[in-house]
Amino acid sequence: MNILITGGTGFLGSFLCERLIGENHTVFCLDNNYTGASENVQSLLSRKNFSFIERDVVEPISDDLRLPKIDQIYNLACPASPPQYQGKAAIKTTKTSVIGAINMLELAKKDGATILQASTSEIYGEPLEHPQKESYRGNVNPIGVRACYDEGKRCAESLFFDYYREESVDIKVVRIFNTYGPRMNPRDGRVVSNFIVQALKNEDITTYGDGKQTRSFCYVDDLIEVMIRMMNSPKGFAGPVNIGNPGEFTILDLAQKTIAKTNSKSKIVFRPLPSDDPTQRKPDISLAREKLGWSPQIALDEGLDKTIAYFKQKLGLN
Ligand code: NAD
Ligand code: UDP
Repeated sequence: MNILITGGTGFLGSFLCERLIGENHTVFCLDNNYTGASENVQSLLSRKNFSFIERDVVEPISDDLRLPKIDQIYNLACPASPPQYQGKAAIKTTKTSVIGAINMLELAKKDGATILQASTSEIYGEPLEHPQKESYRGNVNPIGVRACYDEGKRCAESLFFDYYREESVDIKVVRIFNTYGPRMNPRDGRVVSNFIVQALKNEDITTYGDGKQTRSFCYVDDLIEVMIRMMNSPKGFAGPVNIGNPGEFTILDLAQKTIAKTNSKSKIVFRPLPSDDPTQRKPDISLAREKLGWSPQIALDEGLDKTIAYFKQKLGLN
């Protein structure tokens, strides 16, 4: 198949490119390298069935791209780390989510492609229901600093379902919960990469708030597997489907585990909690189990070991 991956040089996108090239598909990776990097797909650049298109997803797809008829689109383009999508990047983040979704849905409509949206657990905001089921409609602050991401992704979901109802586009929507692994950018700002890098350098571990907030962490390999299963699920099953690992940990648990696993001399320090930071989050993955026959295989301990090994090498600490 001809497969287009937007956000393909990012953390998740680069694993997806690799996996689909491994399955002998022809892959077009479209990215503006805002938080991604061409080096993440370096090993694929010489493959004749792989093309990197340096481009902003906000720009409409035009003939100059010379794309063949596309069979599948994975729409991942969007910064995912709060420090990368907030502040000066906020307006652009909403444009990326909303205009990017429209551009990709139009392409899917023109080519009759199946299109998968990388949505997020953030659409539940500060959840009042725990764990979160897909039927929960969320509790988002529409004017807060996270809204550019949360509301941008909510609007993208709404567009996906309108293209499904009005234009019969074959859509798939997954709501991804915190996912981590090798190839996260060390300066990305998300908690797993921050803590591992800080611990390996024996620097203070920056815990925001009292560290009692929870997250559920999924290892990248598990996530890529279920994204591909969802893309290839029977036509008419659009989701949304929660995907993530339901194991729930406090941020302090994560800090302590990371220090222990790296034999670090780091101390845990407390920093102000960012605005609208969700207090707790854990996916109900019954739907993914039932419809996609999937459940995560890699527990946090094992995934952290693999991720620590990657960062040791990346930072030259082997
Ligand atoms: P990432 O920041 O590593 O990847 C995002 C990619 O999108 C980067 O390569 C970036 O350069 C690209 N991008 C951003 N704006 C763009 C634009 N305007 N045009 C073209 N490319 C653009 O993050 P990730 O963790 O790999 O996330 C990938 C997708 O999955 C995102 O849509 C994110 O919202 C979603 N997601 C990820 C997680 C997670 O925990 N990793 C959780 C929920 C949702
Ligand atoms: N966090 C932290 N220290 C850091 C980075 C993040 O304590 O150096 C906290 C953050 O406040 C949040 C949790 O870890 O409560 C997860 O943050 P992340 O940015 O990874 O993801 P998200 O908030 O989008 O779930």
